[in-house]
Amino acid sequence: MNKVYECLVIGAGPSGIGAAIKLHQEGIDVAIIEMSTPGGKINIAPRVDNYPRQHEIPGPDLAVIFFDRLMQEGVEFIGDEITSLDKKDDIFVLEGKNETYYSKTVYIATGTVERKIGLPLEDELFGHGLSYCALCDGHFFKGQDVLVIGGGNAALKEAIHLAHIVKHLYVIHRRNEFRGSDKLVEELKGFDNVTIMTPYIPVEFIKEEDHLGGVKIQNRETNEEQVLKVQGVFPLVGQNPNTGFIKLDIKNEWGNIPVERNMMTRVPGAFAGGDVLPRDIRQIYLAEHDGMVAANSIKEYLGK
Ligand SMILES: Cc1cc2nc3c(=O)[nH]c(=O)nc-3n(C[C@H](O)[C@H](O)[C@H](O)COP(=O)(O)OP(=O)(O)OC[C@H]3O[C@@H](n4cnc5c(N)ncnc54)[C@H](O)[C@@H]3O)c2cc1C
Repeated sequence: MNKVYECLVIGAGPSGIGAAIKLHQEGIDVAIIEMSTPGGKINIAPRVDNYPRQHEIPGPDLAVIFFDRLMQEGVEFIGDEITSLDKKDDIFVLEGKNETYYSKTVYIATGTVERKIGLPLEDELFGHGLSYCALCDGHFFKGQDVLVIGGGNAALKEAIHLAHIVKHLYVIHRRNEFRGSDKLVEELKGFDNVTIMTPYIPVEFIKEEDHLGGVKIQNRETNEEQVLKVQGVFPLVGQNPNTGFIKLDIKNEWGNIPVERNMMTRVPGAFAGGDVLPRDIRQIYLAEHDGMVAANSIKEYLGK
């Protein structure tokens, strides 16, 4: 068996990074495991606000700040994707794509992934006019007509980012009221090239040759249908937790991980925090808070 860590943190977003730094400072033998770009979800946030420490900073810049802090602290960083998490004989076994890791405790901070609409052609058109990340792919649609589907804060922010780039932007939302903040809705309404349509849902993705050619949408009150001739579509309708790899019996029916106030799950030694929890509001400072509380609880659990 390889080395047994005192704690392994899965996911280097704000929650995992916060927890790992604190644990390391407390003298816990900890490493953090990340499968993608360190910094987590904020890497795709065009602009981060509601974050007391920084005023309106681009998400990727904040991700670099977080990662720099992790490196300055000297926390061990492992680039790997965990494909299975189980507990055997009181030790957590984390199978990665590269290696198997062992630990006395784990902090699961794996966040969420964008939810799909579930219409035919969605997978086929991904990368051919369909994207789930405006910051990553928005520039491909410069001067084109684009549709955003969704009404939460993340969708509104990504729509604002796109409105600066594209020729015309349609935003459809299934309800007449937006879930996102009034401030963002007003900001979006201020663009001359934006049309907001409610209560509309997408009913068909239309393919032209190998690319998106339009989206058929339907009014939920009148059932009237129309085709928006767009070259790009961004479905931004919520998120699913990244917990499919977890074999422990710690998830609820939606795959989220409920925790006690000390951030421990119902399996002793397994802690979780950040966007994977069942919660209505997903924000950086909440994720950091969870990491801090978990680090303290992990230290206590280890008897340190
Ligand atoms: C467009 C957009 C705009 C936003 N704007 C704001 C804002 O202005 N203010 C604000 O406070 N919040 C904002 N948020 C929300 C904020 O980004 C999240 O709440 C926060 O990043 C959650 O942190 P986390 O550490 O829980 O998860 P994440 O940031 O999602 O990090 C999870 C990490 O785990 C990794 N991972 C997942 N599975 C595995 C695995 N099996 N093995 C290894 N690694 C794994 C992922 O690659 C990821 O890096 C925004 C989000 C989006 C999408």
